Amino acid sequence: MERFATARDAALKLRPDVPVYCFRPHVLREDAKNFKALFPGTTAYAVKTNGEPMVIRTLVEAGIDVFDVASPAEFQTVRDISPDAELLYMHPVKAQSDIRLALERYGIRVLVVDHEDEIAKILRIARALDIDHTTMTVFVRLATKGHAAYELSKKFGAAPGHAVELLQRLHGIGFKTGLCFHVGSQVEEPDTYERALASADWVRNRAAVPLAGLDVGGGFPAEYGHDPKSRAPKQPPLEELMANLRGALEYWEFDDQPLVAEPGRVIVARAFSLIVRVLLRKGRRLYINDGIWASLSDSWTGKITLPARFIPDPNIRRRNGDPEKIVPFKVCGATCDSVDILTRPFYLPETVDTGDWIEIGHIGAYSMALRTRFNGFYPDSFVEVDQPFDAGDAPEGFASLETMAD
Ligand SMILES: *Cc1c(COP(=O)(O)O)cnc(C)c1O
Repeated sequence: MERFATARDAALKLRPDVPVYCFRPHVLREDAKNFKALFPGTTAYAVKTNGEPMVIRTLVEAGIDVFDVASPAEFQTVRDISPDAELLYMHPVKAQSDIRLALERYGIRVLVVDHEDEIAKILRIARALDIDHTTMTVFVRLATKGHAAYELSKKFGAAPGHAVELLQRLHGIGFKTGLCFHVGSQVEEPDTYERALASADWVRNRAAVPLAGLDVGGGFPAEYGHDPKSRAPKQPPLEELMANLRGALEYWEFDDQPLVAEPGRVIVARAFSLIVRVLLRKGRRLYINDGIWASLSDSWTGKITLPARFIPDPNIRRRNGDPEKIVPFKVCGATCDSVDILTRPFYLPETVDTGDWIEIGHIGAYSMALRTRFNGFYPDSFVEVDQPFDAGDAPEGFASLETMAD
């Protein structure tokens, strides 16, 4: 992989017409270590967030040895890089053939359910394989309420009363049992975890069976841009959120048992930025060479304001507009699909024009993992970059004028 000091250096040297992902392995290591240091239990990276081998390898180097996986392809991705990493199979609804593979070929012994029929499936397959099911831990996924860019309890999770029944049934059969939840991705209310823990406490007391662990899932927010028109409160920093979480774990007396977290976004977002090119400027609209069917679907569905940094093409001699004035641009994606328009603008200097580049920061989560080949566009170029994405200091989500001058 070619290596550059900054994304700007990469853009000006390569002058790319295709999107280029800028990987920052040292940032990834730093964020993984930081999370591990703040969370008082096992950190299991959620592979679906970004399962690129370069990411998994770097995380293994940073000391991550447990991974949250959901499919045979994810089992294999991790195994290829780390033969002894522990795999937690945290998908509540699984194909029978996948459960069999998990137990037989990958040695997985930790799974999750949110319904009794899933318990029956797992038990049947364990018996058919002659696996002692008392060595297995089955987590019950509890539905939670809260506010996040993505709500996941609409799809998965047992209501508290049902979770009690599932825990008792699992215990009666002889499985080790745990309790887990996933509050949704990019949580927006600081007390989301506290409320989930209160509910978990209620379930634990009613079920009155020994718990082998509590898994608080993912959802920890990454840092993105801020829409100056939105009055949404600013995220508390991760340190503060984790301090609250640790306090709540103690308060509800979950701190004396094995704890797991499954962070994705918060660990990998900052590790990548993306250089895109302005294919055409039409008034206040920018047509770029990436979009919702490639790297930007997460920001589209999650209504996330992406940090965008201007990389002007030095070959453009004459520009219109005020270079000191930051304005919102509507961003249109590369495909011919008419929904391929971002739900949030980029904030950039008024002078941005056809042929310029934009560095989109903090794009490592749910970007390359979700890209498609739709319409023949598939970004797949990578460079390594040394310096972290430069936040700049404009209030409008990282846009900055500094690179204008030289
Ligand atoms: C997606 C997912 C995660 C990771 O979520 P983030 O919001 O990216 O931290 C963790 N656990 C489960 C079960 C998931 O589905």
